[in-house]
Amino acid sequence: MVTTQSRQVVFSAPNEIAIDSIAVPDPGPDDVIVRVRRVGVCATDLHLLAGHIGDTFPLVPGHEFVGEVAAIGAAAAESHGLGIGDHVAVEMLLPCHRCPRCLEGTYNLCERDDMATGLSRGRQLGVNIPRTVAPGLWGGYSEYLYVPAEAIVHRLPADLPWDVAVLVEPFAVACRAVQRGRVGPGDRVLVIGPGPIGILLAAAARSAGASVVVLGTRDSRLRTARAFGADATINMREQDAETMVRAHVGALADVVIEAAGSSEAQQLAARLVRRGGRVVLAGACGAGSTTSFRSDEDLLTREIDVLPSFLSAGGFGSAIGLLERGDFPYADLITHSFPLDEVAAAFAVIAHREQDVMKVVLLPTGP
Ligand SMILES: [Zn+2]
Ligand SMILES: [Zn+2]
Repeated sequence: MVTTQSRQVVFSAPNEIAIDSIAVPDPGPDDVIVRVRRVGVCATDLHLLAGHIGDTFPLVPGHEFVGEVAAIGAAAAESHGLGIGDHVAVEMLLPCHRCPRCLEGTYNLCERDDMATGLSRGRQLGVNIPRTVAPGLWGGYSEYLYVPAEAIVHRLPADLPWDVAVLVEPFAVACRAVQRGRVGPGDRVLVIGPGPIGILLAAAARSAGASVVVLGTRDSRLRTARAFGADATINMREQDAETMVRAHVGALADVVIEAAGSSEAQQLAARLVRRGGRVVLAGACGAGSTTSFRSDEDLLTREIDVLPSFLSAGGFGSAIGLLERGDFPYADLITHSFPLDEVAAAFAVIAHREQDVMKVVLLPTGP
């Protein structure tokens, strides 16, 4: 190892951020130690800090990380086919690989994912594994990350720039949502909510052969959507959504993917999909939220498939392939970069919805 200490950002208690150091262990035979090169700041991280998502303090956040192999055990090198210096993306989900959900491939629904089922820690890197669980390197806001045997590790092309590679996790979330919606050639897809996930949804749906309309409220983001495969955009502050969908699509959409994360947007999604169409719910609305649909008029008599899509399971392969293909100006989505120590400034940019902010990333080990 180059170093035996890793600096990291620690959420020590609700709304308390500290910078601390922790020892980096030598990897066991099945483990990988990753040197984190980029980690995306996600709205989820701000919710974690506020204590909106469980109570996993102290926590090292960061689930959108990419980096290079810094140390690797012999068995891990064999099973992952990796060596020192290889560029990797590690899925934030740590599946048990044995429960019925993991065995059928829906490992985002792993039934052994919490302490209630006897596990000593959670199964989401950067989200629900407390720093008190050894070795405390469970999040991407850190120079180094510990990758246990059950992790799913993907090799990244060595020439893929880090500022593109860092999008792989949110892009995998988008790819899963597109897969859930069974989006295919000729489908007319409407995406609601052009944040980073919504923009990547447009790119993923377009790459699957669909035509895409994106609905939002900020012109700068709708402009970005058009650069990422949207054939048309609708600013619902200025235009009536249903009238404009009909104008652009010629009908209601075959598939509506909701990525705004609000009950209003979910209701809108059900109204803007055609009979027999699919609504994919990809945005989290927050614990305790409820959405009321008109059961008969919105769903039953129109046979709408409502398909929630949770996290990134099964999406990494497609996401890496699309990033490598480079059909869209992916690096342009990174609007702000900060060193680890300036995490508070990074959060402020997002919290204050600064002009044109899209994706904010941290550079734990320099440029
Ligand atoms: Zn995220
Ligand atoms: Zn499982």
